[in-house]
Amino acid sequence: MPKLQKILHPEKFNLILYYAITSFVVIAILTFAVGWIFQRMGRQALIKQSEEYAHYFIPHLNYEIYKDFLLPTIRKDKQIDLENNRRQFKRLDKIVREDVYGLKIKKLYLYDLEGRIIYSTAPEHVGLTLDRSVDKKFGSAVRGIPVSALYSEDSKGAFLMETMLETYYPFYEMTDDGSKQSQVGVMKICQDISSMNEQITRSYQKAIIIAGSSMGVLFLVLFLVVLKATRIINIRTKQLIDTRNTLEQKVEERTLEIREAYKKLQYTHRKLIQSEKLASIGTLVTGLAHEINNPLASIASCAEGLTGRLRTILEHKEGCNDKEAWEVFPEYLKIICDETYRCKTIISNLLNFSRQSEPEFIRIDINRVVDDTLSVVQHQSQIKMPNIQVNLSEDPCEVIGDPQQLKQVFMNLIINALHATEDHGDISISTCQKQAVVQVIVRDSGIGIKPEHLDKIFDPFFTTKPTGKGTGLGLAICYGIIDIHNGRIEAQSEGPGKGATFTVTLPLVT
Ligand code: ADP
Repeated sequence: MPKLQKILHPEKFNLILYYAITSFVVIAILTFAVGWIFQRMGRQALIKQSEEYAHYFIPHLNYEIYKDFLLPTIRKDKQIDLENNRRQFKRLDKIVREDVYGLKIKKLYLYDLEGRIIYSTAPEHVGLTLDRSVDKKFGSAVRGIPVSALYSEDSKGAFLMETMLETYYPFYEMTDDGSKQSQVGVMKICQDISSMNEQITRSYQKAIIIAGSSMGVLFLVLFLVVLKATRIINIRTKQLIDTRNTLEQKVEERTLEIREAYKKLQYTHRKLIQSEKLASIGTLVTGLAHEINNPLASIASCAEGLTGRLRTILEHKEGCNDKEAWEVFPEYLKIICDETYRCKTIISNLLNFSRQSEPEFIRIDINRVVDDTLSVVQHQSQIKMPNIQVNLSEDPCEVIGDPQQLKQVFMNLIINALHATEDHGDISISTCQKQAVVQVIVRDSGIGIKPEHLDKIFDPFFTTKPTGKGTGLGLAICYGIIDIHNGRIEAQSEGPGKGATFTVTLPLVT
């Protein structure tokens, strides 16, 4: 099958070759079929013509034979008995061989109704009886219906065949005026119709030549048409191939351009995420500064206290042995250490959040990501929004994702909730595992969202905040990040003043 498909492939298909092969086969079959039909029709016409001719003369022959040869024996012996009337037999034999009526009779047999041969051009057959069950043609003639058939006979040697027409006629008793009486036997005549057959063979050959040559001419005319068509097809095919190649090249160029554009888009997306991160940090920075300021103040006052004591001890040498003077050192130094570590934690959380890194999709527990995000916000929350309820699922909620990007999403949602509640109101953050998904729900009791804004808030640059406060990019970025994580983000709000709920749904990894 694949080989056939290859041959029939439009670019490989040789129309002229297949046209020539098919035409030759068809012409040969048609020519021989036409010849064969002509020959068959000719043979049937020949039989019909010979029969018609014979039918015209047979009654005469019947009359002559009956009157001149059979009647005398009947009168003499009261039965047909040529065997014992040798003179009559010889006379009949002579006349039959003399080409009566130009019928070219080669053999003549006379049978009585029982099938006994009463006369034959082959004298040795006289007296023999025909097996009527075998010879159906004889049976038909006995019932008064003449029958003919053609056959070939080897005449003068191995290669010379004569065409014979064998006919069985009913043989009648005749009155003197030539009218038929009752049937007395059957006459079988074998006529040589070779010359007529030759004519037929010649007309058969002519038919083959005429049919073959007219089809040959038709073949040539069609060949020229096919040749022309092939040329046109070849030109069109070449044009099509050229167009296809040009198209393929253009598609390749466009694909490259799209790939480049996609790379640029990804780069811009990363930059946007980063700038949104920095914007988030900007929002948090006041609270964070306050958070760092407190421990720094403690550290400074402890350090100052310790410096004063040390100076007093050093100025008054005897103070070196004053146990009381040294006692506060461990306590102050511990405060300095603790507060320094607290600052370090705040700064490392902040650095961790703001770090720009290549996206890296790994198996992560979403509870951990929410926790990390909260650790950055909590310093802020202590002064601005003390009422954040966190309710993380006890089951591990594992997803495949980039922790940095997901942190950015939750940070945006929490900061939006902080803005929406403005120092008063509640915020709750919860995670849960539902069938094949993990959900992170950020709910606030803040200003809520107008119904007509609900389907716009994820559009880039949509903001209801005053100029300089909102960019309208936070939720658009969240949408993009969650989309590449094969998840979805949805917002719900009962209306202005009724708070808002943001639900992030991500596929669970088991
Ligand atoms: P921005 O905060 O810079 O305006 P966002 O894309 O984060 O940009 O938010 C788009 C808009 O969605 C906000 O301007 C606000 O109208 C609305 N919005 C987002 N979160 C909340 C929320 N928690 N409560 C009420 N409205 C919100």
